Amino acid sequence: MAWTVFSLFIALVFIGGFLIYKVKYGFPVRFETLIPEIEFPKERKIKVLLFSKTTGFRHDASIDAGKKAFSEMAVKNDWFLYETEAGGVFNEEQLPKFDVVIFNNSTGRVLNDEQQQLLENYVEEGGMLLGIHGAGDDSHRWDWYEENLIGAKFSHHPIKNQIQETDLFLEPDISPSLKKGLPDTWAHADEWYVFFSNPRIQGFRIVYTIDGEKIDPDGNFFLIRSKNFGMGKDHPVAWYKNIVKGKTFYTSIGHDASAWEHDAFIQMLENAVKWSVE
Ligand SMILES: [Zn+2]
Repeated sequence: MAWTVFSLFIALVFIGGFLIYKVKYGFPVRFETLIPEIEFPKERKIKVLLFSKTTGFRHDASIDAGKKAFSEMAVKNDWFLYETEAGGVFNEEQLPKFDVVIFNNSTGRVLNDEQQQLLENYVEEGGMLLGIHGAGDDSHRWDWYEENLIGAKFSHHPIKNQIQETDLFLEPDISPSLKKGLPDTWAHADEWYVFFSNPRIQGFRIVYTIDGEKIDPDGNFFLIRSKNFGMGKDHPVAWYKNIVKGKTFYTSIGHDASAWEHDAFIQMLENAVKWSVE
């Protein structure tokens, strides 16, 4: 009897470990190289590439809400928006035509080596990369991306209290165009990512923080329950940086569709897209 229980336990640990590995690192990945047909507008308007491919965890509801929100923003502001989940658009001819590339909760390895290199060059030569929530987890396995978009290594998200409501605080000295129309504080319930360090240290400018001491960062079922690592009280949730001639902007907000119901969240992203051409 004891042996049966023990064997069952071992089998469960093994299956569980395998599943966690798969969720984190993704299943075998397909890279698309087919170049899509895109009719770029002749007029000088902001051109947005909305990329929602996932090979890791998929935030379905938030991805859909994000697609809807960005198409509404595009109509309102007269942007050109091209939305896809196929990597073929990351090619030498089409990528530089966009002003901003948005990783809409993109997780896992989504681009092949050549496409990754193109995106790196695109940003460094004046383009912009904007990442939302899952775009900042540790499933991407891409050093340049982590260094230049996230600026910190993802540790975990709270598990015991996965979704927690807390206040967000606007940093007073950010670029005026990024600040436009944003409330000084607002309250929101999200899955607050915890990173091993504060992106501020790497020279990122912070847009919003939460008080890291007001959330429960427990990210484990057992063992190390209480871990907040390098973040502590000063816990950024949105930040940006100039990268050579280009820019990056990342926000850890956006686990589920409810984020997209906040005017402040929409306004922040709208400002970020407009900032791409400044
Ligand atoms: Zn999430």
